[in-house]
Amino acid sequence: MEKIKTALIDFLHKSGFEGKLDEMNYLDLWPQVAGPQVMKHASPVSLKEKKLWVEVSDNVWVYHLTMLKPRLIKEFNKVAGFKAIEEIKFMNVDFPSSRRKFEMHKGINADEENNTHISNMPVVLSIEEKEVLQKIAQNSPSHFKEHLHKLLRGSLLRQKRRRKSGAVDCYTCGFPYYREEMKGELCLLCFQKYNYWKKILRPLFYRTPWVKFEQLKAIYPSLESSIFDICQEKAKQQYYKRLKKILNRGSFRKDLKQKILIRIIQRFVMLSEKKDPTQLKKQDMINAVQFFPEFNRIMDICFSEEAIE
Ligand SMILES: [Zn+2]
Repeated sequence: MEKIKTALIDFLHKSGFEGKLDEMNYLDLWPQVAGPQVMKHASPVSLKEKKLWVEVSDNVWVYHLTMLKPRLIKEFNKVAGFKAIEEIKFMNVDFPSSRRKFEMHKGINADEENNTHISNMPVVLSIEEKEVLQKIAQNSPSHFKEHLHKLLRGSLLRQKRRRKSGAVDCYTCGFPYYREEMKGELCLLCFQKYNYWKKILRPLFYRTPWVKFEQLKAIYPSLESSIFDICQEKAKQQYYKRLKKILNRGSFRKDLKQKILIRIIQRFVMLSEKKDPTQLKKQDMINAVQFFPEFNRIMDICFSEEAIE
């Protein structure tokens, strides 16, 4: 365990990510100031020259947060223990303009604020949802309670309307988005986060595939588990693609092919099972490839009696 930690810190040092950490620690004050629910819709991206830049999921939240700005600045500095910020800039990342372009293209109006069909859509909150709202508001900072409850209620109703009118849940944050607001299975906000973190996580997954979320969280407090999961999932897919490529290449010597395939499978298992090289067993590898479509061929090349000889 200690070895992994040292390797990570060493890597951070070499790659120059250390400077980023200080800034990230500051950004981590945000959830304490705003509470976890606001954090879902408004996440800080940088802090430079006493200016905090915050990405906000839509203009409803931009509006409410702008009204709360003086209080947020005060609260942030209080939590920081000194005058860390003087200004907060909210950036709307809902990309309404791209949505409108799509609507014009399709001849429909998917923007529910301007679409009476969608905005009049009858939706109600269930008793469970109401209870959850109450609970979240109760646990938030006192000056936020009332505002937060109102915001969350509006947000929940909006989500329901969106789902009813064809929006799909983002794979990572679970908020419903229309197709033109997404990149693949991710919303644009999560896609941005994914793009940021994949640059940091990819080399770490390469050096120490068995690294766990909790270990990274200790070094990167702002890393979210859902983002870690999707980065890891993409890394696994990458191994699978390479495996398939090697498997189907005809010009290899059989023993060389076997060697490369085994190395890829080992890395795949270290990543997905979180096992370091000393814990790796042949059975783990056989278990892992069982779920690959070309199981029989892989078994034949890598793990058959003849291959082992
Ligand atoms: Zn998302």
